[in-house]
Amino acid sequence: MISSIKDYTLLNNGLKMPWLGFGVFKINDGQEVEDAVKYALEIGYRSIDTATVYRNERGVGKAIRESGIPREDIFLTTKVWNDDQREKRIMAAFEESLERLKTEYVDLYLVHWPVKGFYQETWQEMEKIYQSGRAKAIGVSNFQIHHLEDILHDSQVVPAVNQIEFHPRLVQPELLKFCQEQKIQTEAWSPLMQGEIFSEPLVKRIAEKYQKTLAQIALRWNLQHEVITIPKSANPNRIAENSQIFDFEIAQEDMNLLDALDQGKRVGPDPDNFNF
Ligand code: NAD
Repeated sequence: MISSIKDYTLLNNGLKMPWLGFGVFKINDGQEVEDAVKYALEIGYRSIDTATVYRNERGVGKAIRESGIPREDIFLTTKVWNDDQREKRIMAAFEESLERLKTEYVDLYLVHWPVKGFYQETWQEMEKIYQSGRAKAIGVSNFQIHHLEDILHDSQVVPAVNQIEFHPRLVQPELLKFCQEQKIQTEAWSPLMQGEIFSEPLVKRIAEKYQKTLAQIALRWNLQHEVITIPKSANPNRIAENSQIFDFEIAQEDMNLLDALDQGKRVGPDPDNFNF
């Protein structure tokens, strides 16, 4: 059972990755992201998820440096953006991220989206970055089974992580099973359905039963599926609330009820049909 904010999973190359992370999408660079990341680190989060396209890597890096926590105790993820894939400048984009973050390495570097016609070549560049030692692990995001098959087919490094939209309305059991079989760790984005989870009556009922908030139920449900979760908030109370998910367990019957909410419904873009 995952029972502490310090608990981690071992990625397919042996790297430790915390089950809980802190997402910073839509948090402004500068004071806002610095305050949020510092607070998250102060209360025990040890994994931060940013991306080139979030335009807040500078603030994330600054907050990490000023936190007083040794860099090696923090798991830092960033992602290569789609335009850099199209322009075939993966290595340059990676160097720029390191510069903005002011760090020697990232723990995890992800391909943000499977850009059609480019992601296979991107993966070959990702492998070079991994071999340079400046990304302790490499992975992908928003990859469907067929995208994963394409890169597994002619590559040496199996992605360590696939970060996907995941919540009770979008379970994708086949993708989860495929990743498990291939030893690719699934990580959830938009675990709170970008807020839509709060109007789901069943989640409300289960929250009342466990005396927890709806957010805590949704996040605990992620963990019990062995899916890493990275909720986002800039509000200190919510950042704390989202970390208090280690002192209870959702019974299997309630897990099943939550699983049955699955409608294959996305709140974000479709990985097979996006135009950015
Ligand atoms: P989320 O599901 O975490 O929801 C965030 C929303 O819920 C925000 O509006 C926030 O203010 C609110 N919220 C957070 N905690 C709450 C609480 N306890 N009570 C009430 N409201 C609360 O959505 P997200 O930000 O889209 O996803 C989380 C993270 O995943 C992002 O920050 C980012 O790091 C990552 N992400 C990755 C991708 C990708 O393509 N790889 C896409 C989207 C997000």
